[in-house]
Amino acid sequence: MDYEEFYVPTFARTGSPIERGEGVYLFDLDGKKYLDCAAGIAVNALGYGNKSLEETIEKQAKKIIHVSNLYFHKPNIDLAETLIESSFADKIFFCNSGTEANEAAIKFSRKYSSSKKASKTAILSFYDSFHGRTYASMTATGQKSFHEGFHPLPQGFFYAPFNDIEATKNVLESADFSAIILEPIQAEGGVCEANLEFLQFLRKYCDENDTVLIFDEIQCGIGRSGKLWAYENYGVVPDMLTAAKPLGGGIPLGAVLAKEKFVSQTIKAGDHGTTFGGNPIACALGCTVFSIVNNKEFLSEVAQKGEELKQKLAEIQKTHDEIIAIFGRGLLIGAQLNFDPKKVVQKAREKGLLLAKSGKNTLRFIPPLIISKNELDEALNIFVSVLDELKI
Ligand SMILES: *Cc1c(COP(=O)(O)O)cnc(C)c1O
Repeated sequence: MDYEEFYVPTFARTGSPIERGEGVYLFDLDGKKYLDCAAGIAVNALGYGNKSLEETIEKQAKKIIHVSNLYFHKPNIDLAETLIESSFADKIFFCNSGTEANEAAIKFSRKYSSSKKASKTAILSFYDSFHGRTYASMTATGQKSFHEGFHPLPQGFFYAPFNDIEATKNVLESADFSAIILEPIQAEGGVCEANLEFLQFLRKYCDENDTVLIFDEIQCGIGRSGKLWAYENYGVVPDMLTAAKPLGGGIPLGAVLAKEKFVSQTIKAGDHGTTFGGNPIACALGCTVFSIVNNKEFLSEVAQKGEELKQKLAEIQKTHDEIIAIFGRGLLIGAQLNFDPKKVVQKAREKGLLLAKSGKNTLRFIPPLIISKNELDEALNIFVSVLDELKI
C-alpha cells in the first residue's frame, strides 16, 4: 500500500512503517531490522528502549501531563536549573521545537538591540546553514532552495559565506546587525565545522558592536560533538544558544539559553509565549537525558567513538575514491561523496542500515550516542558493501 496518498507530500517516504526500537536498532512492521545511524535525525541520543526514559514518562504521566505557562511546575524548574548550571546561560525560555527556539532567539535579539537603536535590526546568517521551517528561521536558513515559492520573506536578513572572515566583514558593513546566528557545526548543509579564527572574529565583532551571537546547537549540542555543548570545543561562548532535537528524550522540546543582559531588561510578560512549551513530561525527560549525557565518561566516549569512526572512514576512503572528504566531530560525521548520496541511503536501508543525507553530496552518520564500537563497525561494513555494490 502507498501510505503517501494520505499526506501533504512534504516528505519522500517509502517502505514498511517503523514499529519499535531496541538499543540502536529499529524494527518495521514486517519484522525487518535496521541499525539506526540517523537516530530520528539526532533526536534519539539514548537509542530505543531506555528504561530511565520510560520510567520518567510513567512517573510524570501519573502526576500531571500538561500545566500551562501561567504557573510554575517542578520538571520545568528542574530542567531550567540544569541548563543554567551546565552552560554559560542565566535565563531559559522553553518551547516545542528547534525552529521555535530560533524564532524566539531572533525576537529576543531584535527586542534588545532595537531598544538601544531603532534601526539595529539586521540578522546575519551563513550559506549552507539550516535553522528551521517557520518564517524567520527559514529566512535565516542560508539555502535558496528552502525559500523558493515562499516569498515574501521577513525583512532584514543577510547572508555571508561560512568561515570566510573577509566576505563576512563586507556584509557586516552593509547594515546595523542585531544578531548573528550560526551552527558551530553545520549539520544539514554538509557537516561543515566552523574555524576557530572565524568564531573568534564573530565573537569580537559582537562584543564591539553589542550584537547578539546566537549559536544554533539544535543538532550539534547536548553531547553529540563529544562535549556537552559544541561551543566548548572552541572556547568561544555565545550570548544565546538554541537547543532542541535530543533535549526532550524524544518528546518535542526546545529551549533558548540566554545571557541575562540580552533579555532581562527588554523582554516583559506578554512579549512572547507558548501554550505547550516546557511540557512536564518533556522537561522531566530532559532532566533524565542530562543526568545521563552530562557525564565526563559518557562524553569522552562519544568523542572517542567519533574519532574512531572518522579514522575508519579515512581507511575506507583509501580504497573508495568516491569518498571525497570526511568532516565533523563526535557522532556528527559526514562523508562527502562525488555523487548524490540518495542511492547510498536507499541501498543501505535495503541492507538494514539507516543513514541521513546532508547538503548536496554528503552522507551523515548521526547514530544514537550510546552506539557501541562493534555496532559502528557493523554500520561501516554495511556502508562499504553498499559502496561496492553501487560501483558495479
Ligand atoms: C533540526 C534543526 C532545526 C529545526 O528544528 P525543528 O525541531 O525541526 O524545528 C534547526 N536548526 C538545526 C541546526 C537543526 O538541525
